[in-house]
Amino acid sequence: MNIHEYQANKLFSDYGIAVLPGRVAETKEQAAEAARELDGASWVVKAQVHAGGRGKAGGVKLAHSIDEVEEIAGKMLNSRLYTHQSGSKGAPIDKVFIVVGVEIHKEYYLALATDTKNAGLMFVASSEGGMEIEKVAQETPDAIARQPVDLAIGVKPYMCNNIAEKIGIPKEQQPNLAKIMTAMFQLFVEKDCSMVEINPLAETSVGLAALDSKINFEDNALMRHSDITELRDLAQEDEREVEAAKFDLNYVGLEGDIGCMVNGAGLAMATMDMIKHFGGNPANFLDVGGSASEENISGAFRLLISDENVKSILVNIFGGIMKCDVIASGIVAAAKKVGLSVPLVVRLEGTNAEIGTRILADSGLYIIPADTFESGVRAAVKAAQA
Ligand code: ADP
Ligand code: MG
Repeated sequence: MNIHEYQANKLFSDYGIAVLPGRVAETKEQAAEAARELDGASWVVKAQVHAGGRGKAGGVKLAHSIDEVEEIAGKMLNSRLYTHQSGSKGAPIDKVFIVVGVEIHKEYYLALATDTKNAGLMFVASSEGGMEIEKVAQETPDAIARQPVDLAIGVKPYMCNNIAEKIGIPKEQQPNLAKIMTAMFQLFVEKDCSMVEINPLAETSVGLAALDSKINFEDNALMRHSDITELRDLAQEDEREVEAAKFDLNYVGLEGDIGCMVNGAGLAMATMDMIKHFGGNPANFLDVGGSASEENISGAFRLLISDENVKSILVNIFGGIMKCDVIASGIVAAAKKVGLSVPLVVRLEGTNAEIGTRILADSGLYIIPADTFESGVRAAVKAAQA
């Protein structure tokens, strides 16, 4: 789960990480009021969306007067921001974060993430702050410093020295860096994060401070953190994924036009590859898993039908623990409820495939049957292009 910058900024502050004072606003009047409350000569108006790269996309703007804050906030609010991470539909700006403007001497990158190889955590840092870390990793891999952290040991002074030295944090700022790294670790562990990122961590007129705060939480641990779950902003999430979560489905929304219902993540990935191979584009990744009930399958199928982008649907099931008749009954129930307006290609193999095929045949639904994986994909691609 993702949260907004203003929420992450508050958590950082609670853990003792130096951040700039800021206020969140939902109207331009509130934005002006926020700027008045914050003592400063300039302010930065920041669009609150769950996507990075806001600066380049016009979502982070400097204002030199309260009137300017109000004007910028008025333009940003209730519009959408299109960044390289937001997808082609962009992200809605319902809130802006007003922060005091500071003079920046130098920007660094500092993040704490999981390190699966060592079953621990890892600090990743760079002297090239403000830039995307992926770009730095690609263009100047040597500019990235890494410091593994053993969960049982935590952050030790030598780790902070190592990072400070590699990215060139001046001596007088090193105690502050150590404080920030220790707090990041504590926050990460206590709140079950999957990523804590400060980009940029900046040397400013008020010392070393986190100018952009980002936290990702591990979904599977959210049941332990009601305070964090409350911070969720569904408006920032793909509505199809929000709906899918209600049915316990592994669903990822994509931008193509062929709806896919598959069991098993491997087969789902292979199905998407095969669709691409034959010139189509999947509208989603969907693994219905092995234990989905007829109701869940029906929910999944309704999700595919109600996606406006979907021009054909491909059901590709290899029945094992998941039985083909459960899939067939779920499809029929969904189609009866909401109607089926696009061509449906079905390939059923494995456990109870014959019963499933009969349920579909008896339903009166118009179905394009497929004997093989390949012929099913070809039929779905053709139907989407028709
Ligand atoms: P994003 O990463 O989404 O582009 P950031 O919050 O990192 O957004 O802001 C982009 C850039 O704007 C930063 O790299 C920094 O140079 C500048 N910036 C952000 N906050 C402030 C601030 N309070 N004062 C001055 N400059 C800022
Ligand atoms: Mg940033």
